[in-house]
Amino acid sequence: MEIDPKRSRERMVRDQIIARGVSSLAVLSAMRKVPRHLFVEEALKPQAYEDHPLPIGQGQTISQPYVVAWMTELLDVKPGMKVLEIGTGSGYQTAVLAEMGAVVHSVERVPELHQLAKNRLAAMGYGNVHLKLDDGTLGWPESAPFDRILVTAGGPKVPEPYLEQLADPGLLVIPVGPERRSQNLTLVRKQDGKIGRKSVGQVMFVDLVGRHAW
Ligand code: SAH
Repeated sequence: MEIDPKRSRERMVRDQIIARGVSSLAVLSAMRKVPRHLFVEEALKPQAYEDHPLPIGQGQTISQPYVVAWMTELLDVKPGMKVLEIGTGSGYQTAVLAEMGAVVHSVERVPELHQLAKNRLAAMGYGNVHLKLDDGTLGWPESAPFDRILVTAGGPKVPEPYLEQLADPGLLVIPVGPERRSQNLTLVRKQDGKIGRKSVGQVMFVDLVGRHAW
């Protein structure tokens, strides 16, 4: 089945994202631009703009469009900011951040996904993106500090390296919770040397696996 990507994106933004309260023009504009159907395998393209996550191989998923938009709005990204993303996966969230003018550093632990995302983002011409194959729970110390950190996998706690590598002022958005596959989306703010955190809602992410996680 053929899809009309531009119309599908318009509909996705209107019915899934604006309808649920995301209003940042920068986020909406990026979600309208990034070709989500190019971040899933051929057979799943017709479903790319539907209101749910999709498998991307290796037991991992590309997040639901609304969740990407919501987390990106919480992150309050401005052009030129240095952003660390953990869990490159398909590269879709990376592209959304790059589209907003962020300088994105993204870490993935699964070699196949890292390579695929790397080829994809290069082919689409996203230049301000740096990708690394590693345990992302260690952060990316050589490139720290980061104005923003976004974690797109869920672990039992906030890994300590993120708090160290977050700039002041800085924001970190991460799914955390004692159970797998169900987390509190947590917004951590660093300001004047102090750390504050609040839960903003329930989410369901794949496991954050590594030294400071599962
Ligand atoms: N942002 C992605 C979502 C991918 S799902 C997208 O838009 O497609 C979460 C990803 O986190 C998976 O690819 C998984 O392999 C990765 N992941 C899990 N633990 C990790 C870790 N410690 N370091 C880096 N990546 C990790």
